Amino acid sequence: MLLNLTILPGDGIGPEVTDQAVLVLEALAEIFGHQLQLHRKNIGGAALTASNDPLPADTLQACLSSSAVLLGAVGGPAFDHFPNHLRPEAGLLRLRRELGAYANLRPAVCFPALEDCSPLRADVVHGTDILIVRELLGGLYFGQPRSIEGPAGSRNALNTMRYGEPEIARIAHIAFDLARKRRHKVRSVDKANVLECSRLWREVVTRTSQNYPDVKLSHMYVDSAAMSLVQRPRDFDVVLTENMFGDILSDQAGGIVGSLGLLASASIGGSVGLYEPVHGSAPDIAGKGIANPLGAILSVAMLLRYSFQLEREAACIENAVGTVLNRGHRTADLASSGQTALATPEMGHSVIAALADSGVGQAVPEKEKSA
Ligand code: NAD
Repeated sequence: MLLNLTILPGDGIGPEVTDQAVLVLEALAEIFGHQLQLHRKNIGGAALTASNDPLPADTLQACLSSSAVLLGAVGGPAFDHFPNHLRPEAGLLRLRRELGAYANLRPAVCFPALEDCSPLRADVVHGTDILIVRELLGGLYFGQPRSIEGPAGSRNALNTMRYGEPEIARIAHIAFDLARKRRHKVRSVDKANVLECSRLWREVVTRTSQNYPDVKLSHMYVDSAAMSLVQRPRDFDVVLTENMFGDILSDQAGGIVGSLGLLASASIGGSVGLYEPVHGSAPDIAGKGIANPLGAILSVAMLLRYSFQLEREAACIENAVGTVLNRGHRTADLASSGQTALATPEMGHSVIAALADSGVGQAVPEKEKSA
């Protein structure tokens, strides 16, 4: 198969982890006989520095013309004082909107080898396997009007949370469909005791659930969900929630399973899927070569699964990540005292070695390899 991708390394640790993800993808393509066409473009701070636009026209055009987009991360302190439309994050939000990527899937799985890396007791985190389905194009991050106005000292800031019924229904369908491939449970997270948006959310999700009698729906307020996530993470299967709640809860889930650096994401629903690790540009460790590339590598697995339906290839990467963790390989965010921490490229090489060791290349007969 021809895999035509745009690669957006971005800022901070973005390029460091993306390099490793691309090397893993190249190794996998070699094993399975796929052909890669990769176009590297700027986004975020890198694009602002090069062309004063966080999402230049040629970057957007390349993304719209490819079959999928792999992104590192955007942002950094150098841009924190830029006006809103010229911040790196504005480029990413616009890209998500232009791609129509309204469904953000964020799995949080506790690898058995990492049970001791969680700040929670191993018996609490054991078996955690959550899929957060976050609405990505609505709510506070996109709502208009938005502003900071008034004279210094007495300014007012305004953001708008807005959700329409079709917007809620389409993300709910994604969550219920995905639950059917898992443990058939959806927990919808809102703040319906306070917010009108959440009351509509709850009503539409409940109505949508009638099409899925085989999936058990429950509702939970976001504050209670935050507590339950750390008390009983194993109880969660699919978590369906709006934009900002999903953003916050998925970072929390990252902490629960050991490190934010492990988490991958897929943003789907539009013409082109966007895949990126959940973490940001991590300015505190950028340039040190110590970032964990596994979230970016696992994002490649999601890209293969959701944009190309290459389930076997996706599982191959996920198994390789499980293998390196079972072998005790750890980057600094996962290493406990006394353990040697691998540098970012060393972790990438370990995953490639695990792919090769799995013998999966030999398992694919020549005639099955795509031209
Ligand atoms: P962050 O995710 O960048 O970092 C939070 C903490 O996790 C830091 O201590 C960091 O060192 C650590 N961390 C993150 N990824 C890691 C990895 N792969 N390996 C090891 N440790 C890792 O969040 P932040 O510090 O709140 O934000 C930094 C910048 O990133 C900001 O400009 C923010 O706007 C941006 N950001 C971008 C995205 C994105 O591009 N999708 C997401 C979140 C934050």
